[in-house]
Amino acid sequence: MGDRGRFSRRSFIRCIFSSALLTGIGDRGFCMAQREGWEGDIKEAMWYTKLKLKKVRCELCPRKCVVDDGERGFCGVRENRNGIYYTLVYSNPCAVHVDPIEKKPFFHFLPATLSFSIATAGCNIECAYCQNWEISQRRPEQTKNIYMPPKKVIELAKRFECASVSFTYTEPVVFYEYMFDTAKLANKSGIRALMVTNAFIEPKPLREVCKVLDGIKVDFKAFSEEFYRKICRGQLKPVLRAIELIKESGKWLELVVLLCPD
Ligand code: SF4
Repeated sequence: MGDRGRFSRRSFIRCIFSSALLTGIGDRGFCMAQREGWEGDIKEAMWYTKLKLKKVRCELCPRKCVVDDGERGFCGVRENRNGIYYTLVYSNPCAVHVDPIEKKPFFHFLPATLSFSIATAGCNIECAYCQNWEISQRRPEQTKNIYMPPKKVIELAKRFECASVSFTYTEPVVFYEYMFDTAKLANKSGIRALMVTNAFIEPKPLREVCKVLDGIKVDFKAFSEEFYRKICRGQLKPVLRAIELIKESGKWLELVVLLCPD
């Protein structure tokens, strides 16, 4: 690759400064717009089926939640309103940082560049050791959010000289629609789009999102169905199937296994 987006001394200082602003350490910049509660756009979910009695079945992840009118799925960020399923986290991130790409971690993809990194509240599994539980195990009205539509994400990524946008920290599968539209815009702007995921996702939505992503890093929990069920409230088999599909898509794939000592 060329020098564009390389991690220079100037970029490093910019990274430290912007992270302080965006995470709430400072009292200026984006922090001023960050509020408790919901800040996003109401958007109909992309992957669900309408059922009788105004129920819906979410088809996004292997949990396949059947949700009554007025209720939410397991992840807490998708809601059935009068038989229509909505995402509550579109344009509604609770974490926005400018990170070195190695922090995602992507080890072999555009090394020494910056990645504009966003997350919303919510996750579709529940790892007992989650480091980001304060946002992953929360509903959007329980986190401090900022209004940031996809266009704004790309604008800021450019302003902070980021070579990529990363969907990370919590689980991007649950903010699928926001990720999808932002990745499409990134494609048009020459910015790479990266997903950091648990790969607990159904094949159809995965195939579609792979088309607009450049790289995917999978947090592989353990090669054990028991570990997935007991420690993460997830399932191993759908994750293995998703990893195969990503490989088949030809997109950049990295696997990370976090070693838990207990
Ligand atoms: S994405 Fe959320 S609502 Fe949909 S099946 Fe998974 S946990 Fe349930």
